[in-house]
Amino acid sequence: MTIRSRDFDTCVHAAKDSDPLTGAVVKPIHTASTYEQKAPAEHLGYDYSRADNPTREAYEKALAAVEVAQHGLAFSSGLAAEQAVIQLLDPGAEVIVCDDVYGGTGRMFRTLFAKYDLKFHFVDMSNLDNVAAALNEKTRLVWVESPTNPLLKVIDVVGVAKLLKGKDCQFLVDNTFASPVFQSPLELGASIVLHSSSKYIGGHSDLIGGALMVNDPKLFQSLKYVQFAAGAIPSPMDCHLFHRSLSTLAIRMKKHEENAFAVAEFLETHPKVDVVFYPGLESHPQHAIAKEQMRGFSGIVSFKLKGNYEDVKTFLAKLRMFRLAESLGCVESLVNHPEKMTHASVPEKMREHLGIDSQLLRLSVGIESSESLVSDLQNALN
Ligand SMILES: *Cc1c(COP(=O)(O)O)cnc(C)c1O
Repeated sequence: MTIRSRDFDTCVHAAKDSDPLTGAVVKPIHTASTYEQKAPAEHLGYDYSRADNPTREAYEKALAAVEVAQHGLAFSSGLAAEQAVIQLLDPGAEVIVCDDVYGGTGRMFRTLFAKYDLKFHFVDMSNLDNVAAALNEKTRLVWVESPTNPLLKVIDVVGVAKLLKGKDCQFLVDNTFASPVFQSPLELGASIVLHSSSKYIGGHSDLIGGALMVNDPKLFQSLKYVQFAAGAIPSPMDCHLFHRSLSTLAIRMKKHEENAFAVAEFLETHPKVDVVFYPGLESHPQHAIAKEQMRGFSGIVSFKLKGNYEDVKTFLAKLRMFRLAESLGCVESLVNHPEKMTHASVPEKMREHLGIDSQLLRLSVGIESSESLVSDLQNALN
C-alpha cells in the first residue's frame, strides 16, 4: 500500500533542529541528572532528569510528530507505558481488553493489577457485540490491539470508538504491530496510542522502550505526572538511539511490508502450509477493515504448518535466515513459536480457544532481500 510522503519527511526531520550553541545537526545527548539553579526554584525549565531531560524531550516531540499527536511520552519499556495508563484508574474501574492481547499485557493485568480491585474483561473484539455486551457504567478503559498478536486479527477501531462516544472512558490502541507509519488510531477515534518501541520504532533488536501519544492536554498532564512520579523513564542514551531509529522508520516499514507480502503469498500456495494469517491477503477474514483503517499491512506473518510438533521443530532447525527468537519489528528476520515462547504465560484454555497451538509460527519479516527469505522458507519446508 502507500506510505504518505509526510511520514518519510517527518521520520527524518522530526525534532531535529540544529543545536543553537554549535550548529551541530545532531542533538547532543544530555546525560546530566541535575541542573544548577540560579536561586531556589529558579531554573531554565530543568531541575531533575526524571522530571524533564532535553534529550528525552526532543525524542518525545518526534514521537508525537510521527503519530500525528499533540503529545508524546517515552517510557523505559512498553509494559511501563501500559502500567502508567492503568495507574490512572480508580479502584472499582473495569477495563475491556481484546482477548488475544500481547502475552505480557494480559499477564500484567491478571497477575499484578487484578488484585487492586480492577476488573479486566477479555473479549473477542472481532465481533463488536461482545464489546457492547461487556460495557457498563464502571468501564473506564477499552484496550485494543490491532493487528493482534500472534493471530493478526484486525479490530474495527472506528466501530469501537462509536460505541464509546460520549462515555467517560479512555480508548487505548496498542499500535505496535502497525507502527505509526501504517495506522493512525488517534485519527480513527482512539484517545491514547501505545507502542512497544522495542519493536518497529527501535527496529534493531538493541533497545527496550515504550511510548504513549495523546491529543487531550489534560490526559497528557495526568500521564506525564505518572511518568514523573512513578519514574519509569528511558535513559538519555536510549532516547538518542530511539530518536535516531525513527529517521529510518518509514523506509524500513516499506521494506518490511514488501517482504511480508512476498512471504505470505509464497506460504499461502505451499502444500505443507495449513493456513496463513496476514491482513494484506484477501483470504484474511478482516481484510476489508484492514484496508479501510490501515495504510499498509506491516511485516508480521503467522501461519500453521501441517503435520505435528516434530515437523515444526525440524522446520525450525532448517531455517537459516529466520532466527528463532522472541520479539519482532527488527531489521533481521525472526521466527517465534508462540505456544512455547511468547504466549507460554497465556492460560492453556485461552490458548486453545484462540487457536495458539503447536503448529502455529509467527514470522517477523526483516528487511533482507525477499528472494533470500522466500528461498530460506522453501528449503526448510522441503
Ligand atoms: C512487546 C510488546 C509489548 C510490551 O512491550 P515491551 O517493550 O516488551 O515491554 C506490548 N504490546 C505489544 C503488541 C508488543 O509486541
